[in-house]
Amino acid sequence: MKKVLIIGGGFAGLAALKALSRQKGLSLSLVDRKETFDFLPLLPDLIGRGIKPQALTCRLGDLLKSKGADFINDEVVSLDLEKRSAFLSRGSLDFDYLIAASGSQTNFYGNKNIETSACKLDAVTDAVSLLKRLKENDFSNFIVAGGGYTGIEVASALRVFLRRSRRSARIIIVERSPAILGPLPPWMKEYVNTNLKGLKIEVYLNSSLERIEGGKTFLSQNRSFEESMVIWTAGVETSGYLQGLKVEKNPQGRVRVDEFMSFSEGCFAAGDAAWFLRGKGALRMAVQFSIAEGYTAGLNVIRSSQGKKLKLLRPLDLGMIIPMANNLSCGNVLGVDLRGRLPTLLHFIMCIYRACGITNKREIIINLLQGGRK
Ligand SMILES: Cc1cc2nc3c(=O)[nH]c(=O)nc-3n(C[C@H](O)[C@H](O)[C@H](O)COP(=O)(O)OP(=O)(O)OC[C@H]3O[C@@H](n4cnc5c(N)ncnc54)[C@H](O)[C@@H]3O)c2cc1C
Repeated sequence: MKKVLIIGGGFAGLAALKALSRQKGLSLSLVDRKETFDFLPLLPDLIGRGIKPQALTCRLGDLLKSKGADFINDEVVSLDLEKRSAFLSRGSLDFDYLIAASGSQTNFYGNKNIETSACKLDAVTDAVSLLKRLKENDFSNFIVAGGGYTGIEVASALRVFLRRSRRSARIIIVERSPAILGPLPPWMKEYVNTNLKGLKIEVYLNSSLERIEGGKTFLSQNRSFEESMVIWTAGVETSGYLQGLKVEKNPQGRVRVDEFMSFSEGCFAAGDAAWFLRGKGALRMAVQFSIAEGYTAGLNVIRSSQGKKLKLLRPLDLGMIIPMANNLSCGNVLGVDLRGRLPTLLHFIMCIYRACGITNKREIIINLLQGGRK
């Protein structure tokens, strides 16, 4: 029986498994360093809207049992593509076909000082510890490093949390480049900037976070903040085992895949781990593409094992939304520019539709209706 190994039980890995589990005669294993699938798009809402952590996770062991696959709770540390082996922190696994769906993680660019002192948002456990720190300390300053989607969403969630707790503090987004939200259209940047002003969130452009000492945070241009908490959202990279692989990658370590999601004979990548070039740019790191890529990779493992022609990935871009905790979101959905409550609502409809299992969907709806009230 041919062995298929999926690395990562996120959106892409589980979509691959969904495709693969329809085919008999393959031995399926999925390895993940976490025991749970985590629904990442709602992590900021744990802070801003009081969504309960248990509504955002599902146990991978239970999910995989129903798909006839083995779950291995371990971390892949390296791959030998020629010998068809994956090396884990405890032992190794052989495979005939591989799907690398290990997503992305916070990149601290080697700065150990910031890595050990700042909060990050890679998993539900990270959001839980951020919230705990927030509740247990009365910080005067919150520094959010990185003015991309995640940084902006987190800053808005912090403000809503503080207002609800009747606390006041400065919230500062620190962005290295001359503008927030990188390549997004000017109207979106303008809309978000106006909203940030309304939320009393300051934005420091052309600035960077230098170091954290005790509770004091030092920025470029000789700025410093006492009693501060730092949330680092200033970049991502792929998992270490991919960084070490001798294949073509982009600067974040995403593996270049062809239109069949393949990067080497019998080896596929999907989701944030994959770098799929289309026209002038690459597909964004987003749930909709992770699911489509994972499913295509799964189908192509089946087709490879049957000696059939592989299926092309035909990604459909439904659009993107920048969700804000005060409901003044913006985005473009199916080619239409949207502002205000409608994009917020569409974002939550997408999240509820894609959340894992009826119990979690129900819990998310209840938590959202309660709006963070106890
Ligand atoms: C705070 C936040 C908000 C977001 N909001 C949105 C949004 O609103 N809309 C949207 O479309 N996208 C959003 N995204 C992006 C979206 O969540 C990702 O694009 C998506 O999760 C990628 O799916 P994936 O399956 O590739 O990776 P993931 O979902 O990250 O899953 C990867 C899995 O691989 C595991 N793994 C990693 N390395 C290893 C290893 N070496 N060994 C074993 N296991 C490993 C991880 O534990 C994880 O379970 C957001 C992301 C974040 C962090």
